[in-house]
Amino acid sequence: MNIVLFGAPGAGKGTQAKELTKKYEIPQISTGDILREAIAKKTPLGLEAKKLMDGGNLVSDDIVNGLVEARLQEADCEKGFILDGFPRTVAQAEALDKILEKFNKKIEKVIALDVSDDEIIERITGRRVSKKTGKIYHIKYNPPVDEKEEDLEQRVDDNKETVMKRLEVYNKQTAPVLEYYKKQNKVYSVDGAKKLEEITKDIIDILEK
Ligand code: AMP
Repeated sequence: MNIVLFGAPGAGKGTQAKELTKKYEIPQISTGDILREAIAKKTPLGLEAKKLMDGGNLVSDDIVNGLVEARLQEADCEKGFILDGFPRTVAQAEALDKILEKFNKKIEKVIALDVSDDEIIERITGRRVSKKTGKIYHIKYNPPVDEKEEDLEQRVDDNKETVMKRLEVYNKQTAPVLEYYKKQNKVYSVDGAKKLEEITKDIIDILEK
């Protein structure tokens, strides 16, 4: 099961990926998470990526392609993987096809989460992430039950101004990736405005079709 979760920032890719990893026991590969880890560790790559990420811009294709190529070679990807936040440009999608070809693999399905821009802004500005568990919450729509408010933090790039920039980048550079996969007949759209559990169910139905 080699799948791509596709959608604008805040469409719910990370939240849904976490549900799918539990169900199918395959890893979530989030380039955003990998980059944030590099920033936390203050590696040279992290320091280079930070400025771009904080401003809502994309990190270079070469960097993320290299990260994904290395990650896909780890043993836990054998049974499949869920890509979250990658590919984000057509050049990344092309590079991914080449990488997978080397391993005799291919992307089977691309699940596109549809959410309106207004909803995206509301979701991202209310998004909080647990410092302890990495779980994603929303202060209004999905507040934590078992975790304390003080254990939650807001991502540096989850403010309104940066979200507007990220949406612009998404529309310009990332949306064309969907056309790339449509040509390969791999795209399945899901209404990302539904309740979390309903979206998960819709995705599972598509994956098991
Ligand atoms: P995300 O956590 O997926 O929202 O990603 C956060 C930020 O990390 C993005 O706004 C980009 O700056 C950077 N990033 C994550 N994935 C990619 C990618 N595939 N290509 C380029 N930049 C990325």
